[in-house]
Amino acid sequence: MKMTTPVIDFHIHLAKYTPHRPWVDEFMKNFQPDNYKDFVEEMSDPAVFVKLMKESGVDYGVVLAELSPITTGICNNEDVAAFCRDYDCLIPFGTVNPYLTARPAELVEKLVKEDGFRGLKLYPTYNYFYPNEQMMYPIYAKAEELGIPVMFHTGTSIFRGSRVKYGDPVLFDDVAVDFPNLTIIMVHSGRNFWYESAFALSKLHPNLFMELAGLPPQNLLKYFPNFETNADRILFATDWPGLPSIKGNIEKFRELPISDAVKTKVLGGNAAKILGLDQNINK
Ligand SMILES: [Zn+2]
Repeated sequence: MKMTTPVIDFHIHLAKYTPHRPWVDEFMKNFQPDNYKDFVEEMSDPAVFVKLMKESGVDYGVVLAELSPITTGICNNEDVAAFCRDYDCLIPFGTVNPYLTARPAELVEKLVKEDGFRGLKLYPTYNYFYPNEQMMYPIYAKAEELGIPVMFHTGTSIFRGSRVKYGDPVLFDDVAVDFPNLTIIMVHSGRNFWYESAFALSKLHPNLFMELAGLPPQNLLKYFPNFETNADRILFATDWPGLPSIKGNIEKFRELPISDAVKTKVLGGNAAKILGLDQNINK
């Protein structure tokens, strides 16, 4: 049976945090100026969000937990698990803040084996650790053993308290070398001043991917002039609800002067392989 490649948004947050830091709510209000509170309540119902996602042309969404009390706020693993529970199209990614957990590798094992998480998102610039610190290595060893991908915030953030020195893509050179079977995803692709090194490193290491959340699609060829040469290592993502429209982002991406084959890979083909959703594609 031949099935079309899905469209996958690799970076979605819950609208409701418990709580957001005030400056995060202020930022989100840019996109929902009149009825932000109602919007947050409405979108806390996964059925409502899934409808929006499908209407936007997205088949699967990766939903991210976050424990970043200093910079952005709290979105517990439990809340993400509950949000995704009844929907195969919502793929839960858990998180571990290394300063809030005594035995992070044990927590990762529980998140995956008992709670159904399919990957991890870690926040170096918000939690203040270098991705190549030895403190983090038990987490990576466990993720590699379990066969789950690990994504990391890289580059700048407008949120107060974020420290960009922890988000340099070059730090993943160590991780990629030391964990050759771990799938590593650089969220935001080194945003602002590290696009070139994120691109070069992901071409260098077969296990190191770039992710496009928060990057205006119309600027991608400016940031990455050789975009098409790295077609197997780039993942589409939006950072919803922090953008005007998922659908608009997909439309702008589809308008880029690159081949349809590359667009298909980036919009979902690569992500489907990482997430194990590719079993039925093109067979
Ligand atoms: Zn995000």
